[in-house]
Amino acid sequence: MHSSGTRVQAFIGDPVSDVPVVDYDQLEEIFGDIQSDIRYDHELNGCLNCGICTATCPAAHYYDFSPREIVQLLWTENLEGIYDAMQEKIWACAQCYTCAARCPFSNSPGGLVMILREVAIKHGMQSAKEVLRPFSRVMLKLISTGNQLSPDMINPDHFADWGPNISKVDAPLKILRRAIPMPTLNTTETSWEVNLKTSIELYTIWEMTGVLDQLETIDENLFDVITDIMDEKRDDYEDWLEEQEDEED
Ligand code: SF4
Ligand code: SF4
Repeated sequence: MHSSGTRVQAFIGDPVSDVPVVDYDQLEEIFGDIQSDIRYDHELNGCLNCGICTATCPAAHYYDFSPREIVQLLWTENLEGIYDAMQEKIWACAQCYTCAARCPFSNSPGGLVMILREVAIKHGMQSAKEVLRPFSRVMLKLISTGNQLSPDMINPDHFADWGPNISKVDAPLKILRRAIPMPTLNTTETSWEVNLKTSIELYTIWEMTGVLDQLETIDENLFDVITDIMDEKRDDYEDWLEEQEDEED
C-alpha cells in the first residue's frame, strides 16, 4: 500500500501523450466518494473471485474489461487499480446487469460500475469527458425540449452522419413506434411541445439532484448553453403566470 503523498501514474488513451498524475490523497478521496455512495454496501457483499460475472458479461467478450476484476479491485481496496480502471475500463460496461443476476454473493458489478462512472464525472476525469462528449447533442435536445427525437426524425435529412445505415432503421422504427399507443411521440410537432410547467419542474429536479453540476464539470460550454435556455424558459413561465393572474383579476 502506498503511504500518503506517494505519486501514482495512470494512463488514458495514448500512454505517451496523456499521462495524468494523481497523489495518494486524491486516490483516497475518490475511493471515499465511491464507498460513501448509498448503493455501495448493497452492491458489494464480498467476492469469491469465481469469475461467473465475467463469464456471463457481454462486454467482457468484446473489450478489455472484466466485472470480476472491478469487484476485486473494490473488495481489496486497491486504490491505484480502481483509479486506473476508471480511466477506460468502466466505460465498456453495457449496464445489462446479467452479472447481478448470476453472482453467488448477490453483488452487482454493473451497479458498482455505475457508481464508479458517477464518481469519475464528479472528479471531472478526462475519460468521462471523452466518453460523454458524443452525447452532448442528446443532452441539449433532452434538456431544451424534454425529448430527444421522434420517429419522423429518423431519416437521412436529420442524420446525414449516419450514412447509408439510416435506411436500415427508417421504416422499422416508425412501425414499431406506431405499435405503441403513444401518438403524441410520433412527430416532432407534438413530441417537442413539452409543457412549460413540466420543463420548469424538470429543471428543478436536475438542479436538486446534481445533474447540472455534473454537466458543468464535464462540459462547461454545453452547461452555459443549457442554462441560457433554462433561464429563457423560466422567464417565459413567469410571464405566463403573470398573464394568468391578470386574466383572473
Ligand atoms: S452490467 Fe456491465 S458488468 Fe454486468 S454483465 Fe452487463 S455489461 Fe457486464
Ligand atoms: S462478483 Fe460475484 S460472480 Fe463475480 S467473481 Fe465475485 S463472487 Fe464471482
